[in-house]
Amino acid sequence: MRYPDRLLALIRSLSRLPGVGPKSAQKLGLHLAQNKAEAGELAAALEEVRRHIGVCERCGNLAEGKLCPVCADPQRDAGMIAVVESAADVLAIEKSGEYSGVYHVLGGVLNPLEGVGPEHLRIESLLERARGAREVILATSMTVEGEATAAYLSELLSGSGVKLSRPAYGLPVGGTLEYVDEVTLARALAHRQPMPE
Ligand SMILES: [Zn+2]
Repeated sequence: MRYPDRLLALIRSLSRLPGVGPKSAQKLGLHLAQNKAEAGELAAALEEVRRHIGVCERCGNLAEGKLCPVCADPQRDAGMIAVVESAADVLAIEKSGEYSGVYHVLGGVLNPLEGVGPEHLRIESLLERARGAREVILATSMTVEGEATAAYLSELLSGSGVKLSRPAYGLPVGGTLEYVDEVTLARALAHRQPMPE
């Protein structure tokens, strides 16, 4: 026997989500098919997010409306921009409670092997925003791609007069911000190093 087509379609959709393999997709699909109340709640939550959550038109962070909460906050220091890979990284830095500047979410890192070039990242708007800034903190991950992206951006921005720095992670190479604990992240930001000219 095989599952009904509608259920197969759901399992297929679930399996395309990040971090969900075929086994988990099947398990989730079967569970939802048999628990109507949960399925209804999930469907409603998905629709709400689809309709109301988008991308901040200034920084690329998640936003409900035109601007994200950070960009909309007049208390934040707009002269200091932390460049990160994803909205998850924004959340990680926000949790550290030590950062008062604003962000710029690239939407990934340069990865030639996977076909991700500068044109796929939010770089144009960064160059524009950097013109009005005092300092740009290149807070991409300590992965090979993250380091290469920081170096690339540093080259693009050098000579623009803006101060460039990189967090002093002091962490095992290969880590991503998302999994760094708050204290370490706060320390890394506080002890950020100027990028070599
Ligand atoms: Zn924003």
